[in-house]
Amino acid sequence: METTRRRPQHSANGKRSEQKEQLAQWGRAWEVDWFSLISVISLLCFAPFIVFYFVMACDQYECSITQPVLDLYQGEATLLSIWARAPSFSWSAAKIYAIWVSFQVFLYMCFPDITHKFIPGYVGGVQEGARTPAGLINKYEINGLQCWLITHALWFANARYFHWFSPTIIFDNWIPLLWCANILGYAVSTFAFIKAYLFPTNAEDCKFTGNIFYNYMMGIEFNPRIGKWFDFKLFFNGRPGIVAWTLINLSYMAKQQELYGYITNSMILVNVLQAIYVLDFFWNEAWYLKTIDICHDHFGWYLGWGDCVWLPYLYTLQGLYLVYHPVQLSDAHALTVLLLGLVGYYIFRSTNHQKDLFRRTEGSCSIWGRKPTWIECTYRSADGGMHRSKLLTSGFWGVARHFNYTGDLMGSLAYCASCGFGHMLPYFYIVYMTILLVHRCVRDEHRCSSKYGKDWKRYTDAVPSRLIPGVF
Ligand code: NDP
Repeated sequence: METTRRRPQHSANGKRSEQKEQLAQWGRAWEVDWFSLISVISLLCFAPFIVFYFVMACDQYECSITQPVLDLYQGEATLLSIWARAPSFSWSAAKIYAIWVSFQVFLYMCFPDITHKFIPGYVGGVQEGARTPAGLINKYEINGLQCWLITHALWFANARYFHWFSPTIIFDNWIPLLWCANILGYAVSTFAFIKAYLFPTNAEDCKFTGNIFYNYMMGIEFNPRIGKWFDFKLFFNGRPGIVAWTLINLSYMAKQQELYGYITNSMILVNVLQAIYVLDFFWNEAWYLKTIDICHDHFGWYLGWGDCVWLPYLYTLQGLYLVYHPVQLSDAHALTVLLLGLVGYYIFRSTNHQKDLFRRTEGSCSIWGRKPTWIECTYRSADGGMHRSKLLTSGFWGVARHFNYTGDLMGSLAYCASCGFGHMLPYFYIVYMTILLVHRCVRDEHRCSSKYGKDWKRYTDAVPSRLIPGVF
């Protein structure tokens, strides 16, 4: 077992920052046990092949995820023959990808937000993140909504007027683009890893477990940056992956139209439900600074590769499936799915909003028409400072400790159910989200328990369920 520690850093008064480590243990990863280590190595080795498997299954087996295995078992295909039939890297895809990523960097760095000046209620521009374990508060340029709007306006202008490229360009280059996304994902994770040793942005917020695989995967630096504003976590989490999400779906929609001459109601449902989720993300990008990804996770392969490859390829499987299987849902089915998606979204958004409002106003607000109730907590940061915080126990936060995850899962199920019940592939998303969010519950509660100690225990006594009241 390895104990997590920072690399010794001499501070101005000559004391080593390791001494400070004794004061705060609530950042990511405390120990790397054998189970974590095996999981990390397995993910590093197999995750790229899982993504390849799903995309290849659509390309070669019309989205059947069992047929490739059967073919391999019966000797009708070999791993090499499957690999040989998959489109490989192409320079034209590399050009598309390089233009895409450069354009997103350009929008992120060169266009400070102006939308908050004329869109009522939208919070953009320079915003503060949460306090880091070392006690810092970083500033971020929040311009994701603006980047999304400009990118999509250009996409529609191209489709309608300019015709520089086909709206099916993403679908048409999907597997070659996977190579490019992998190259970027590994490059950025490796760069962040080396940077943490050689020139960390804030050495006090670095964490080294002593295990190289764990460090590479879960990250060492907390908020790696280049210059003052290029924040790796904010950029890679939101763009290029999440801006691309809606464009990828639009490309699938265009392909359906091209292949069959019509667009199915299932494709429209997937596009609409996922677009709501994406727009919600950018509308609330300032809120996002207070979520686990930004506040607690360090930047490693998990975020770097995950945002470049896993998210755009596996979160969009429903639209990809519908290109191969243009399912037309009955009105009742479509309405039920729409309702499930909207109710899930309502729970997800309201729960997140309640916490945000509560934390912003320090409890001086109304939740479900009443004054909120909460538990007062104290915690210590690595600089030795004592801080106070509050854990909300009313509204959705009194129903379960992670009811926002429950809403998210309902929405995820709706995306999958939009594809009918003909194949398992579109249901991968709900299986994955369940594992991700249950694991996140456990991970977050472990961290909160270390951070708040006995106050966290008081909170779990007051709100005993995690996701489903009385069940889990
Ligand atoms: P939360 O927004 O729930 O944040 C958890 C943090 O909130 C805790 O660490 C704690 O931080 C604080 N907190 C916990 N309980 C309370 C309480 N009762 N009152 C006030 N503050 C509390 O989690 P996430 O960041 O994981 O998720 C944010 C959203 O993003 C969720 O809706 C989730 O579904 C979604 N999501 C989506 C993913 C996707 O891939 N689609 C992936 C991950 C998340 P503190 O230290 O400040 O007290």
